[in-house]
Amino acid sequence: MSSSKQQSKLQEAKAEVLSLLNVLSDKVDLEKKLGVSYIQLDPIIKKRIPHGENVVSHPSTLGPDIDTHNEETEVELSRSEKIEELRKLEEQVKKCTKCDLCESRTNVVFGVGDPDARLMFVGEAPGYYEDEQGEPFVGKAGQLLTKIIESIGMKRSDVYLANILKCRPPENRNPNTNEIVMCSPHSIKQIEIIRPEIICALGIFAAQTLLDTTESIGELRGKFFEYQKAKLLATYHPAYLLRNPDDKRKVWEDIKKVRDYLREGSA
Ligand code: SF4
Repeated sequence: MSSSKQQSKLQEAKAEVLSLLNVLSDKVDLEKKLGVSYIQLDPIIKKRIPHGENVVSHPSTLGPDIDTHNEETEVELSRSEKIEELRKLEEQVKKCTKCDLCESRTNVVFGVGDPDARLMFVGEAPGYYEDEQGEPFVGKAGQLLTKIIESIGMKRSDVYLANILKCRPPENRNPNTNEIVMCSPHSIKQIEIIRPEIICALGIFAAQTLLDTTESIGELRGKFFEYQKAKLLATYHPAYLLRNPDDKRKVWEDIKKVRDYLREGSA
């Protein structure tokens, strides 16, 4: 290899290391603000909690529990700090080239909503209209989600909406494993900043990614899980409901559980 090529490879490697250090530094800053005084190895708490009378055990779902009780304080970011952290994160994500979807996207679809939301919906990936407009859930499935939100007496602006993938997969194909692995840290960090009381995972990809499981959405839906300090409930994605309207009743049952938890503060 010629010395100019070696020089250019060296420059690329240096740039990559600097970029990684910047990401790590931002993460440590954020965790300090959140009161985390240790390096968090895995932010996902994968412990299933009882819902109603039944404790259902699915060993494939569960990893070792991470007891953060003595390690995290209850320090919350203020609304303005959340806005600032989300802005910084969005700036990073807009420049992200960690997977091939950066080449075909029109817009990065970061997320939208109340940074202090008690309820956060996490879907799969942007579709055609989301990619065009840079906002999640604006197509037909998004209109249905808006109706679902209004059915429990809330407005779209009361909640926070995001997807696991921030860029649209071509032809709305399913996300692949590499894309999920590369992109999910962005939504995990969004959740860390917003700290909703309930996360509603829409569809199999969001549910499996956040719960770190391979179980089907049929198995996962309608049950409460613990995720960080929030409850997580999975249900069908509104795009699935457009194709399978008979399952709207099941989503209504699930979303009523979310409504009741928000009203009563217990699952
Ligand atoms: S999908 Fe996610 S990981 Fe891939 S380029 Fe977009 S923001 Fe980056």
